[in-house]
Amino acid sequence: MESLSQLNSLKFWPQSLVGTEQAEFGLVHTPAVPRLAILAATGWPGLEGFDGEASQRAEQTLLIGPTSPRNAAALRAHLEWLRPRLLGLRTSAGLGDRLGLATPGHVRAVRSAGGRIAPIFAQQSIREMTRTERTPQQVMDDALWGVFQEGWRGGFGADADHLKTPADVDACVAAGYTFFTIDPGDHVDNQADSASLFALRAAVEQLPPDVQPRASGLLGCSFQIEGHALTFDEATLFRAAAKYSRAVAHVAAMYRHLRQAAGDRPFELEVSVDETDTPTTPAEHFYFASELRRLGVQWVSLAPRYVGRFEKGVDYISPDGKIGETGAFAADFAIHAAIARQLGPYKLSLHSGSDKFSVYAIAAQATQGLVHLKTAGTSYLEALRAVAAVAPELFREIYAFARERYETDRVSYHVSARLDRAPLPDVVAEADLPALLDQFDSREILHIAFGSVLTARTPAGERRFHTRLMELLRVQSERYAANLEAHFLRHLRPFEPR
Ligand code: ZN
Repeated sequence: MESLSQLNSLKFWPQSLVGTEQAEFGLVHTPAVPRLAILAATGWPGLEGFDGEASQRAEQTLLIGPTSPRNAAALRAHLEWLRPRLLGLRTSAGLGDRLGLATPGHVRAVRSAGGRIAPIFAQQSIREMTRTERTPQQVMDDALWGVFQEGWRGGFGADADHLKTPADVDACVAAGYTFFTIDPGDHVDNQADSASLFALRAAVEQLPPDVQPRASGLLGCSFQIEGHALTFDEATLFRAAAKYSRAVAHVAAMYRHLRQAAGDRPFELEVSVDETDTPTTPAEHFYFASELRRLGVQWVSLAPRYVGRFEKGVDYISPDGKIGETGAFAADFAIHAAIARQLGPYKLSLHSGSDKFSVYAIAAQATQGLVHLKTAGTSYLEALRAVAAVAPELFREIYAFARERYETDRVSYHVSARLDRAPLPDVVAEADLPALLDQFDSREILHIAFGSVLTARTPAGERRFHTRLMELLRVQSERYAANLEAHFLRHLRPFEPR
């Protein structure tokens, strides 16, 4: 009997090679798109589930096939560690990947950090899937091939991020996601923050009966939460209800829909209001969680909108605009962590979590490890770092295009970069191009343009950057993985459980 590693004609990703009782599987390392190889006893019926070209070798059949959706599904059926699973309350990190080639680098970062953080390797919001023209299934399958390539057997979750409608839920349930992030942000009324008591009384009159403030049972109640006093006088409760009760009702409806759609398949839930305009006060967090619980929602993590700014791909910015100044955040976050312990326990989730280096230690400590870090866009920036190193003119072209797109693309993101502070593309020397990825303004400009870059078309209808970018990253796969490993090691280390 031969084994795959003895086939001199094929070069494998060494960690992908794995044998089961019936067959041996491996991922073939080619300069272009990788291939799946299977070696099995001739006549093994399992082979029928796979696509590819079969050849006979003595008593065995060798099948070489594409990394297609059908082959991903068949491989998932045979190798249980390729199926996403629940992470529960373990310290966890979501590593989103907009290109579909980042998972190998993500796996290496998780391993290097110590391997105890529960990872999510398939993660994309519906908005980002639309922007990158990918489907929930593609996101899932791309993560699978990366996990397979690197031989990661430690398990991973799959996060259907920022779901807003029942149709979003259905699409992601069908693709096998296990972690669902419900975003009721469109139902949050930010005006409530500055409304008078008179206006709040009028506003709550209009609320649906099941989320009227009186139904919460909180009016007039006081709570001591690890030394922090919360009192629900009329103004506090009505403000919280006016701001969040429609969001609560939306989450409850989405949750019921999800339970029905998932049937007997287990799943876990996150609730996020991180993309709203005004911070979630501790009283509002308490109200929100207490109401979700009253309506029967079960969740593992929650993303309030914290004080200050979590902009894309840059460090934390304090309420008074200072980068990396964490005093106000630490004080506010400590109370949120205490509420999450008391009303759950559930994890606090840090969205737009990339590059928030100054808050990681604070978050890990205050939550005592009940924390989820969510990142996505900077994996794309590390891809651009590989481009800047080996194809400077392509990088310059992408940067010039990102600048053109900035005022349009910034509308749906929290960013404060200014075009007049970002260097002009033509004046940057070739050797200085990578530094554009580290300058605040150019970094944000490059960050949010990913969708425009990946889907831009030439007048002839060809993809303007996508094909070149993907080809380059496949050839430079080791460089890209090394960039990602170094980048995310800095993110994960502060969270690694001791
Ligand atoms: Zn988010």
